[in-house]
Amino acid sequence: MAADRKIVIIGSGPAGLTAALYAARGNLSPLLVEGIEAGGQLTLTSLVENYPGFRSGIQGPDLMEEMLQQAVHFGTDIVQGNVVRADLSQRPFSIELADSRVVTAQALIIATGASARWLEIGSDRKLAGRGVSTCATCDGYFFRNRPIAVVGGGDSAMEEAVYLSRLASQVTVIHRRDSLRASKIMQDKALANPKIKFIWDSEIAEVNDVAKGEVTGITVRNLKTGHLSDVPLEGVFIAIGHTPNTSLFKGQIELDQNGYVVTHNGTHTSVPGVFAAGDVQDHVYRQAVTAAGTGCMAALDAERWLEGIPEEEESTAETSQEMA
Ligand code: NAP
Repeated sequence: MAADRKIVIIGSGPAGLTAALYAARGNLSPLLVEGIEAGGQLTLTSLVENYPGFRSGIQGPDLMEEMLQQAVHFGTDIVQGNVVRADLSQRPFSIELADSRVVTAQALIIATGASARWLEIGSDRKLAGRGVSTCATCDGYFFRNRPIAVVGGGDSAMEEAVYLSRLASQVTVIHRRDSLRASKIMQDKALANPKIKFIWDSEIAEVNDVAKGEVTGITVRNLKTGHLSDVPLEGVFIAIGHTPNTSLFKGQIELDQNGYVVTHNGTHTSVPGVFAAGDVQDHVYRQAVTAAGTGCMAALDAERWLEGIPEEEESTAETSQEMA
Protein backbone atom coordinates (compact mmCIF):
# COMPACT_ATOMS: atom_id res chain seq x y z
CA MET A 1 0.00 0.00 0.00
CA ALA A 2 1.33 3.44 -0.87
CA ALA A 3 1.51 6.19 1.68
CA ASP A 4 -0.94 9.02 1.12
CA ARG A 5 1.27 11.22 3.21
CA LYS A 6 4.85 11.44 4.30
CA ILE A 7 3.79 12.78 7.68
CA VAL A 8 0.54 12.61 9.58
CA ILE A 9 0.25 14.43 12.91
CA ILE A 10 -2.45 13.57 15.42
CA GLY A 11 -3.37 16.37 17.79
CA SER A 12 -3.78 20.13 17.46
CA GLY A 13 -2.32 21.56 20.67
CA PRO A 14 0.99 23.47 20.69
CA ALA A 15 2.96 20.23 20.06
CA GLY A 16 0.94 19.09 17.04
CA LEU A 17 0.68 22.53 15.44
CA THR A 18 4.38 23.28 15.89
CA ALA A 19 5.26 19.88 14.39
CA ALA A 20 2.93 20.75 11.49
CA LEU A 21 4.56 24.15 11.00
CA TYR A 22 8.04 22.66 10.81
CA ALA A 23 6.98 19.73 8.62
CA ALA A 24 5.12 22.08 6.25
CA ARG A 25 8.10 24.43 5.99
CA GLY A 26 10.23 21.33 5.36
CA ASN A 27 8.08 20.68 2.26
CA LEU A 28 6.57 17.50 3.68
CA SER A 29 2.89 18.50 3.13
CA PRO A 30 1.72 17.23 6.51
CA LEU A 31 -1.81 16.24 7.32
CA LEU A 32 -2.91 17.13 10.85
CA VAL A 33 -5.91 15.48 12.48
CA GLU A 34 -7.31 17.85 15.10
CA GLY A 35 -8.71 15.33 17.58
CA ILE A 36 -11.62 15.67 20.00
CA GLU A 37 -10.33 18.68 21.94
CA ALA A 38 -9.32 20.81 18.95
CA GLY A 39 -6.62 23.25 20.04
CA GLY A 40 -5.83 21.21 23.16
CA GLN A 41 -5.82 22.30 26.78
CA LEU A 42 -5.04 25.97 26.04
CA THR A 43 -8.51 26.41 24.61
CA LEU A 44 -9.81 25.75 28.14
CA THR A 45 -7.78 28.51 29.73
CA SER A 46 -8.07 32.29 29.58
CA LEU A 47 -5.06 34.62 29.65
CA VAL A 48 -1.72 32.96 28.89
CA GLU A 49 1.09 35.10 30.27
CA ASN A 50 3.99 32.67 30.05
CA TYR A 51 4.15 31.96 26.34
CA PRO A 52 7.15 33.96 25.10
CA GLY A 53 6.52 36.76 22.64
CA PHE A 54 3.36 38.28 24.10
CA ARG A 55 4.34 40.89 26.68
CA SER A 56 0.74 41.48 27.80
CA GLY A 57 -0.24 37.84 27.47
CA ILE A 58 -2.62 36.31 24.97
CA GLN A 59 -5.92 34.48 25.39
CA GLY A 60 -5.40 30.70 25.13
CA PRO A 61 -7.92 30.19 22.30
CA ASP A 62 -6.39 33.14 20.36
CA LEU A 63 -2.89 31.67 20.70
CA MET A 64 -4.12 28.33 19.35
CA GLU A 65 -5.92 30.02 16.44
CA GLU A 66 -2.69 31.85 15.53
CA MET A 67 -0.73 28.59 15.66
CA LEU A 68 -3.35 26.86 13.50
CA GLN A 69 -3.37 29.62 10.87
CA GLN A 70 0.44 29.70 10.81
CA ALA A 71 0.58 25.93 10.17
CA VAL A 72 -2.09 26.23 7.44
CA HIS A 73 -0.30 29.22 5.87
CA PHE A 74 2.74 27.06 5.21
CA GLY A 75 0.76 24.20 3.71
CA THR A 76 -0.60 21.96 6.48
CA ASP A 77 -3.84 20.19 5.60
CA ILE A 78 -6.17 20.08 8.58
CA VAL A 79 -8.75 17.37 9.15
CA GLN A 80 -11.39 18.05 11.76
CA GLY A 81 -12.53 15.12 13.83
CA ASN A 82 -10.93 12.27 15.55
CA VAL A 83 -8.85 9.18 14.90
CA VAL A 84 -10.71 6.00 15.84
CA ARG A 85 -8.02 3.44 14.98
CA ALA A 86 -4.31 3.48 14.28
CA ASP A 87 -2.38 0.51 12.90
CA LEU A 88 1.33 0.89 13.62
CA SER A 89 2.19 -2.75 12.90
CA GLN A 90 3.49 -2.04 9.39
CA ARG A 91 4.53 0.88 7.22
CA PRO A 92 2.94 2.87 5.86
CA PHE A 93 1.00 3.31 9.08
CA SER A 94 -2.73 3.46 8.66
CA ILE A 95 -5.01 5.82 10.50
CA GLU A 96 -8.77 5.55 10.40
CA LEU A 97 -10.80 8.69 10.97
CA ALA A 98 -14.21 8.93 12.63
CA ASP A 99 -15.88 9.35 9.21
CA SER A 100 -14.31 5.97 8.13
CA ARG A 101 -11.68 7.57 5.90
CA VAL A 102 -8.32 5.85 6.08
CA VAL A 103 -5.09 7.83 5.72
CA THR A 104 -1.70 6.23 5.44
CA ALA A 105 1.61 7.74 6.44
CA GLN A 106 5.31 6.94 6.28
CA ALA A 107 5.88 8.82 9.51
CA LEU A 108 3.48 9.57 12.33
CA ILE A 109 3.72 12.22 15.04
CA ILE A 110 1.61 11.54 18.12
CA ALA A 111 0.67 14.80 19.84
CA THR A 112 -2.59 13.77 21.44
CA GLY A 113 -1.81 15.39 24.79
CA ALA A 114 -3.07 14.50 28.22
CA SER A 115 -6.37 15.48 29.73
CA ALA A 116 -6.52 16.83 33.26
CA ARG A 117 -8.82 14.85 35.51
CA TRP A 118 -11.73 16.71 37.04
CA LEU A 119 -13.81 16.02 40.11
CA GLU A 120 -17.11 14.43 39.32
CA ILE A 121 -19.29 17.07 40.94
CA GLY A 122 -20.25 19.32 38.02
CA SER A 123 -19.65 22.66 39.73
CA ASP A 124 -15.87 22.38 39.19
CA ARG A 125 -16.33 22.15 35.41
CA LYS A 126 -18.94 24.91 35.40
CA LEU A 127 -16.50 27.29 37.10
CA ALA A 128 -13.48 26.26 34.99
CA GLY A 129 -11.59 29.41 33.99
CA ARG A 130 -13.65 31.40 36.52
CA GLY A 131 -11.75 30.44 39.64
CA VAL A 132 -11.27 26.71 39.04
CA SER A 133 -8.10 25.64 37.25
CA THR A 134 -6.12 22.50 36.52
CA CYS A 135 -2.82 24.33 36.01
CA ALA A 136 -1.07 26.32 38.75
CA THR A 137 1.72 27.64 36.53
CA CYS A 138 -0.86 28.89 34.04
CA ASP A 139 -3.33 30.51 36.43
CA GLY A 140 -1.66 30.93 39.84
CA TYR A 141 -0.67 34.50 39.12
CA PHE A 142 -4.36 35.55 39.06
CA PHE A 143 -4.69 34.56 42.73
CA ARG A 144 -2.02 36.77 44.27
CA ASN A 145 -2.79 37.44 47.94
CA ARG A 146 -6.01 35.45 47.79
CA PRO A 147 -6.98 32.25 49.61
CA ILE A 148 -7.16 29.17 47.41
CA ALA A 149 -7.50 25.37 47.65
CA VAL A 150 -5.56 22.57 45.99
CA VAL A 151 -7.17 19.14 45.62
CA GLY A 152 -5.04 15.98 45.61
CA GLY A 153 -2.26 14.29 47.51
CA GLY A 154 0.23 13.38 44.78
CA ASP A 155 3.41 15.03 43.52
CA SER A 156 1.46 17.39 41.26
CA ALA A 157 -0.75 18.58 44.10
CA MET A 158 2.23 19.17 46.42
CA GLU A 159 4.21 20.89 43.68
CA GLU A 160 1.24 23.13 42.88
CA ALA A 161 0.57 23.85 46.56
CA VAL A 162 4.20 24.89 47.13
CA TYR A 163 4.26 26.98 43.95
CA LEU A 164 0.94 28.65 44.80
CA SER A 165 2.05 29.37 48.37
CA ARG A 166 4.41 31.98 46.91
CA LEU A 167 1.47 33.81 45.37
CA ALA A 168 -1.69 33.10 47.35
CA SER A 169 -2.42 34.38 50.87
CA GLN A 170 -3.25 30.84 52.04
CA VAL A 171 -3.31 27.41 50.41
CA THR A 172 -5.65 24.73 51.74
CA VAL A 173 -4.93 21.22 50.49
CA ILE A 174 -7.97 18.94 50.41
CA HIS A 175 -7.00 15.28 50.33
CA ARG A 176 -9.28 12.27 50.43
CA ARG A 177 -7.03 10.21 52.74
CA ASP A 178 -4.93 10.91 55.83
CA SER A 179 -1.59 10.35 54.13
CA LEU A 180 -0.05 11.72 50.97
CA ARG A 181 0.88 9.80 47.85
CA ALA A 182 3.56 12.35 46.91
CA SER A 183 7.28 11.55 47.15
CA LYS A 184 8.86 12.12 50.57
CA ILE A 185 10.74 15.22 49.47
CA MET A 186 7.60 16.89 48.11
CA GLN A 187 5.63 15.91 51.21
CA ASP A 188 8.27 17.42 53.48
CA LYS A 189 8.29 20.67 51.52
CA ALA A 190 4.53 21.04 51.63
CA LEU A 191 4.07 19.94 55.24
CA ALA A 192 6.74 22.36 56.46
CA ASN A 193 5.30 25.32 54.56
CA PRO A 194 3.49 27.66 57.00
CA LYS A 195 1.19 28.97 54.26
CA ILE A 196 -0.14 25.49 53.43
CA LYS A 197 -2.79 23.89 55.62
CA PHE A 198 -4.27 20.43 55.13
CA ILE A 199 -7.80 19.14 55.41
CA TRP A 200 -7.48 15.35 55.56
CA ASP A 201 -9.95 12.55 54.78
CA SER A 202 -12.06 15.00 52.85
CA GLU A 203 -13.41 15.82 49.42
CA ILE A 204 -14.96 18.85 47.81
CA ALA A 205 -18.71 18.31 47.79
CA GLU A 206 -19.40 21.56 45.93
CA VAL A 207 -17.52 24.51 44.50
CA ASN A 208 -19.54 27.64 45.23
CA ASP A 209 -21.00 29.67 43.61
CA VAL A 210 -22.12 28.54 40.17
CA ALA A 211 -25.06 30.97 40.17
CA LYS A 212 -22.68 33.92 40.64
CA GLY A 213 -20.27 32.57 38.01
CA GLU A 214 -17.29 32.89 40.36
CA VAL A 215 -15.62 30.98 43.17
CA THR A 216 -16.66 32.21 46.60
CA GLY A 217 -15.77 29.07 48.56
CA ILE A 218 -16.06 25.30 48.77
CA THR A 219 -18.22 22.90 50.70
CA VAL A 220 -16.00 20.17 52.13
CA ARG A 221 -17.24 16.71 53.10
CA ASN A 222 -15.36 14.73 55.73
CA LEU A 223 -15.32 11.20 54.32
CA LYS A 224 -15.12 9.56 57.75
CA THR A 225 -17.91 11.48 59.47
CA GLY A 226 -19.94 12.82 56.53
CA HIS A 227 -19.76 16.26 58.15
CA LEU A 228 -20.10 19.18 55.70
CA SER A 229 -18.32 22.51 56.25
CA ASP A 230 -17.94 25.67 54.19
CA VAL A 231 -14.51 27.16 53.51
CA PRO A 232 -14.50 30.64 51.97
CA LEU A 233 -11.82 31.09 49.30
CA GLU A 234 -11.41 32.44 45.77
CA GLY A 235 -9.70 29.76 43.72
CA VAL A 236 -9.56 25.97 43.40
CA PHE A 237 -6.73 24.08 41.73
CA ILE A 238 -7.51 20.49 40.87
CA ALA A 239 -4.38 18.34 40.78
CA ILE A 240 -5.69 14.79 40.84
CA GLY A 241 -3.68 13.61 37.86
CA HIS A 242 -3.78 13.63 34.09
CA THR A 243 -4.77 10.92 31.69
CA PRO A 244 -2.50 10.71 28.64
CA ASN A 245 -4.52 10.24 25.47
CA THR A 246 -2.84 7.02 24.36
CA SER A 247 -5.64 4.45 24.22
CA LEU A 248 -5.31 4.29 20.40
CA PHE A 249 -1.72 3.12 20.69
CA LYS A 250 -1.92 0.72 23.64
CA GLY A 251 -0.14 -2.53 22.85
CA GLN A 252 1.46 -0.99 19.75
CA ILE A 253 4.14 1.28 21.18
CA GLU A 254 5.92 1.36 24.50
CA LEU A 255 4.01 3.27 27.19
CA ASP A 256 5.17 3.85 30.76
CA GLN A 257 3.24 2.58 33.78
CA ASN A 258 1.07 5.71 33.76
CA GLY A 259 0.25 5.33 30.06
CA TYR A 260 2.57 8.06 28.73
CA VAL A 261 4.45 7.37 25.48
CA VAL A 262 8.10 6.52 26.15
CA THR A 263 10.48 8.52 23.93
CA HIS A 264 14.21 8.15 23.40
CA ASN A 265 16.85 9.99 21.34
CA GLY A 266 14.67 13.07 21.23
CA THR A 267 11.14 12.16 20.19
CA HIS A 268 11.58 8.63 18.76
CA THR A 269 9.17 6.03 20.15
CA SER A 270 9.63 2.25 20.25
CA VAL A 271 8.24 2.02 16.68
CA PRO A 272 10.58 3.37 13.97
CA GLY A 273 8.83 6.18 12.12
CA VAL A 274 6.51 7.03 15.02
CA PHE A 275 7.39 10.12 17.06
CA ALA A 276 5.72 11.68 20.08
CA ALA A 277 5.60 15.28 21.28
CA GLY A 278 3.97 17.33 24.00
CA ASP A 279 2.08 16.22 27.08
CA VAL A 280 1.41 12.72 25.71
CA GLN A 281 5.07 11.98 26.49
CA ASP A 282 5.75 14.53 29.25
CA HIS A 283 4.20 14.36 32.71
CA VAL A 284 6.81 16.64 34.25
CA TYR A 285 6.88 20.04 32.49
CA ARG A 286 3.46 20.14 30.76
CA GLN A 287 3.86 23.69 29.47
CA ALA A 288 2.69 25.08 26.12
CA VAL A 289 6.21 26.22 25.35
CA THR A 290 7.77 22.83 26.14
CA ALA A 291 5.06 21.09 24.12
CA ALA A 292 5.79 23.41 21.18
CA GLY A 293 9.51 22.69 21.62
CA THR A 294 9.06 18.94 21.44
CA GLY A 295 6.68 19.40 18.47
CA CYS A 296 9.53 21.10 16.63
CA MET A 297 11.88 18.28 17.65
CA ALA A 298 9.43 15.62 16.43
CA ALA A 299 9.11 17.24 12.99
CA LEU A 300 12.90 17.49 12.66
CA ASP A 301 13.36 13.91 13.88
CA ALA A 302 10.68 12.67 11.46
CA GLU A 303 12.22 14.62 8.57
CA ARG A 304 15.65 13.10 9.24
CA TRP A 305 14.15 9.66 9.65
CA LEU A 306 12.28 9.96 6.33
CA GLU A 307 15.52 10.95 4.60
CA GLY A 308 17.04 7.71 5.86
CA ILE A 309 14.33 5.35 4.56
CA PRO A 310 16.02 3.05 2.03
CA GLU A 311 15.16 4.00 -1.53
CA GLU A 312 13.78 0.53 -2.41
CA GLU A 313 11.21 0.93 0.37
CA GLU A 314 9.95 4.18 -1.12
CA SER A 315 9.96 2.80 -4.68
CA THR A 316 8.03 -0.31 -3.54
CA ALA A 317 5.44 2.06 -2.16
CA GLU A 318 5.32 3.96 -5.45
CA THR A 319 4.97 0.75 -7.50
CA SER A 320 2.08 -0.47 -5.40
CA GLN A 321 0.48 2.96 -5.76
CA GLU A 322 0.66 2.59 -9.56
CA MET A 323 -0.87 -0.88 -9.31
CA ALA A 324 -3.67 0.27 -7.00
P1 NAP B 1 -1.04 10.91 41.09
O1 NAP B 1 0.29 10.53 41.61
O2 NAP B 1 -1.89 9.87 40.43
O3 NAP B 1 -1.85 11.54 42.32
C1 NAP B 1 -3.19 11.89 42.19
C2 NAP B 1 -3.69 12.34 43.55
O4 NAP B 1 -5.02 12.78 43.40
C3 NAP B 1 -3.69 11.22 44.59
O5 NAP B 1 -3.32 11.73 45.84
C4 NAP B 1 -5.15 10.76 44.59
O6 NAP B 1 -5.58 10.32 45.85
C5 NAP B 1 -5.87 12.02 44.27
N1 NAP B 1 -7.11 11.74 43.53
C6 NAP B 1 -7.28 10.99 42.41
N2 NAP B 1 -8.55 11.02 41.99
C7 NAP B 1 -9.21 11.79 42.89
C8 NAP B 1 -10.56 12.20 43.01
N3 NAP B 1 -11.49 11.82 42.13
N4 NAP B 1 -10.90 13.01 44.04
C9 NAP B 1 -9.96 13.41 44.94
N5 NAP B 1 -8.66 13.06 44.87
C10 NAP B 1 -8.30 12.26 43.85
O7 NAP B 1 -0.96 12.10 40.01
P2 NAP B 1 0.11 13.29 39.90
O8 NAP B 1 0.33 13.91 41.19
O9 NAP B 1 -0.37 14.15 38.77
O10 NAP B 1 1.43 12.55 39.42
C11 NAP B 1 1.43 11.74 38.24
C12 NAP B 1 2.84 11.18 38.04
O11 NAP B 1 3.74 12.24 37.71
C13 NAP B 1 3.39 10.52 39.31
O12 NAP B 1 4.20 9.44 38.94
C14 NAP B 1 4.23 11.61 39.92
O13 NAP B 1 5.27 11.12 40.76
C15 NAP B 1 4.78 12.30 38.68
N6 NAP B 1 5.09 13.69 38.96
C16 NAP B 1 6.38 14.00 39.30
C17 NAP B 1 6.71 15.29 39.59
C18 NAP B 1 8.10 15.61 39.94
O14 NAP B 1 8.89 14.68 40.05
N7 NAP B 1 8.46 16.85 40.11
C19 NAP B 1 5.74 16.30 39.58
C20 NAP B 1 4.44 15.96 39.26
C21 NAP B 1 4.13 14.65 38.96
P3 NAP B 1 -5.03 8.94 46.48
O15 NAP B 1 -3.65 9.25 46.97
O16 NAP B 1 -6.00 8.65 47.58
O17 NAP B 1 -5.07 7.93 45.37
